Amino acid sequence: MKIFNTMTRKKDEFIPLNEKKASIYVCGSTVYDFIHIGNARPMVVFDTLRRYLTYRGYEVTYVQNFTDIDDKMIRRANESGITVKELGDRFINEFYTDAKGLGILPATVNPRATEHIDEIIAIVKDLEDKGHAYNVDGDVYFDTESFPGYGRLCGQNLEDLNLGARIDVNSVKKNPMDFALWKSKKEGEPYWQSPWGEGRPGWHIECSAMSMKYLGNTFDIHAGGLDLIFPHHENEIAQSECCTGEKFARYWMHNGYIQVNGEKMSKSLGNFVTVRQVSEKYDLEVLRMFILQVQYRNPINYTDDAILGTKNALDRLYNAKIMLEQLVDSKKDDTAELSAQWKATIDQYRDTFNEKMDDDLNTADAISTIFDLVKEINTGINGNSSAADAKYALDMLVELCGVLGLLSKRETGSLDEEVEELIAQRQAARKSKNWAEADRIRDLLKDMGIVIEDTREGIRWKRVN
Ligand SMILES: [Zn+2]
Repeated sequence: MKIFNTMTRKKDEFIPLNEKKASIYVCGSTVYDFIHIGNARPMVVFDTLRRYLTYRGYEVTYVQNFTDIDDKMIRRANESGITVKELGDRFINEFYTDAKGLGILPATVNPRATEHIDEIIAIVKDLEDKGHAYNVDGDVYFDTESFPGYGRLCGQNLEDLNLGARIDVNSVKKNPMDFALWKSKKEGEPYWQSPWGEGRPGWHIECSAMSMKYLGNTFDIHAGGLDLIFPHHENEIAQSECCTGEKFARYWMHNGYIQVNGEKMSKSLGNFVTVRQVSEKYDLEVLRMFILQVQYRNPINYTDDAILGTKNALDRLYNAKIMLEQLVDSKKDDTAELSAQWKATIDQYRDTFNEKMDDDLNTADAISTIFDLVKEINTGINGNSSAADAKYALDMLVELCGVLGLLSKRETGSLDEEVEELIAQRQAARKSKNWAEADRIRDLLKDMGIVIEDTREGIRWKRVN
């Protein structure tokens, strides 16, 4: 598989440290509010990367952190009259609700910054001992000049970065780019004991502490949104590599932005779309597919029309699945063998799908491949097809969609008894030419999300939501 590595600025062949194991660290969100669709994108994209690597035989360790201490957390907790810990607990719970809806597999571990203060302090102390950090009255800063590689990820050198920085005349920092590893206690803020007095960690250091704790000093993939390249990831590299003397992450992956109606999501425009808002209208599987319909490095424009379009597209996938299931179901006694030619035709879609995914996780083209498969199914499978052929196509559809985390939510398979009974009553009404009653039952079913079609092969139904 090739991965676009922000560090090398090209697609690199993915060769993990340990032959069949892959380690991934994804920067998580700050848990002070509900997540919005911009937060959902890295969750969905890198969950899909994890699923794909697992599908290709890797054993994946997947870590995504929660930032549960920073200025926003403190401000919001104070406004709400609760502790930072209570605020974090609440929105971590809400995060899990949204993550489940989006079909995100549980991470190997979701570490919280506040539960890793000892590890953070150990790194800061080590950096100070090695001359990479300096203490000014209880605030400890990283000395960017002490790390020659600073600026490599974002492709700028330290001198230019320093020139471009806003000069704060009151700053006690040696260089404008130096950043806080540890902050001394301020009134009304949570604090921990440290060698520099009472205080709390800066933001960047938590990801170094938690990634190295769970994945080792050197690990395979570090991922997050584009906005994290600088300074967050640049700083993570500096502090981690100065501490261990070893390479930190080997591949850097960054997803693009999500806009809403062509504009950046921002407080001033008031156009934040939360995942919870989307879930009021659609199953979040729709949002998952919406995100995956664009290759992860490209921008996405979220509009009402676009998400509705995705909902309809997802319905087509479900309908193909249901059609095949019903066909297989109705031919339980069919013993015909799978056609070798049909198998070869269907297998090609897996090859193409993998080819697309191997090309820097091109889920957009992978989804197009699935729709080509559906087209093939719709022309190649009909009432005369064998159960074996239908089953083979069904399994392929479910397999490929499963890699993307799709087609696993709505119940398809069998209908519940109540619905079956209603369909039988409608059939009886039609037989006795009681059209009004037949229509009444059809409308009733429709209200229950079941649409009935009368075909030459008999009754077909599909679910609509
Ligand atoms: Zn991070």
